[in-house]
Amino acid sequence: MSIASTANLLDLDRKGLEQFFLARGDKTFRAAQVMKWIYGHGVVDFADMTNLSKALRVTLQDSATIGLPEVVADQLSDDGSRKWLLRLEDGNCIETVFIPEAERGTLCVSSQVGCMLNCSFCSTAEQGFNRNLTTGEIIAQVWVAAHALDSRADSNRVISNVVMMGMGEPLLNYDNVVRAMRIMQDDYGFGLSKRRITLSTAGIVPAIYQLREDCDVSLAVSLHAPNDALRDELVPLNRKYPIGDLLAACKDYVGEGRRRVTFEYVMLAGVNDSDAHARELIRCLEGVPAKVNLIPFNPFPNTSYARSPKPRLDRFFDLLNRAGIVTITRKTRGDDIDAACGQLAGRFHDRTRRRSRRISEHRGIEA
Ligand code: SAH
Repeated sequence: MSIASTANLLDLDRKGLEQFFLARGDKTFRAAQVMKWIYGHGVVDFADMTNLSKALRVTLQDSATIGLPEVVADQLSDDGSRKWLLRLEDGNCIETVFIPEAERGTLCVSSQVGCMLNCSFCSTAEQGFNRNLTTGEIIAQVWVAAHALDSRADSNRVISNVVMMGMGEPLLNYDNVVRAMRIMQDDYGFGLSKRRITLSTAGIVPAIYQLREDCDVSLAVSLHAPNDALRDELVPLNRKYPIGDLLAACKDYVGEGRRRVTFEYVMLAGVNDSDAHARELIRCLEGVPAKVNLIPFNPFPNTSYARSPKPRLDRFFDLLNRAGIVTITRKTRGDDIDAACGQLAGRFHDRTRRRSRRISEHRGIEA
């Protein structure tokens, strides 16, 4: 970041903001003050930051911005889920979904416009990859939702959990995602504890080891198959980072404590949902501190996959459960506003083809 140019303060975590103020000959505590305004009070106009000197407010107006996306649509589902379509500065659109439950409120956040991983059951894959989101674009999703829901860290915390399970592979946008998660955790940011932030990955093994060092939030891994042959087909990334390596990284991630990795498993009729697959999965997860999250497949146009019938899903669930694996079936939420897993849509301009496209996105919410 060039100091002379206008900085988007949402791109900076506390350390970055401290550097920003130091570079201007000011004090580091300004970082906490400004963060309190932005994230604590939802104030994004420097003129309203009344505990800063007038001179500083003017300097900030000249040298910084607080860049928020434009809310193009705001939809409410019959089940209380809410979805925002957000237009970014370059015209790309992303979506963010809030899912209220009895005990918590979960916000599902995107990390990229599109995705480059090509998972065969995922509609985002068909649409290709456009670009990484900036830190500011990631944290702005939380800001917009918190503002709309009047969610506050000090009282009325409507957003209690954040899941990086929207569009994109968060570990392929590592620096920006980690910085955004630091702001989510910061007491002057959204004040969420590490275990209330979940990052979902298709399994970028080296980045899992790195994440443990940098920001050990709760980890969810999109497993979807109990053996390499099938996973190679469903999640092509498996050819680079096979199940053995992935599970070793997962074990390392949670260490010896009581934490567990959540393994996501999309239920595809006749593909990965037999009794034999369940038994193989049980063997595969032996010795791994694991929870399993079964996700009913959400179909999209031109897919050859179908959702496993309910009795099959229940039977698969029972087998895992009886083997002592904590298993949850993810509820389909917000499908009347196309906000369920696999139904989200963003819009983006693919600069390489120079035409706008519509992309479908899948998201999953921890049940
Ligand atoms: N790239 C990350 C995070 C985004 S996907 C990852 O792979 O984990 C969020 C979850 O939704 C993943 O578990 C993904 O496999 C799942 N998913 C993708 N397409 C789906 C679909 N059509 N129906 C149900 N779940 C889907």
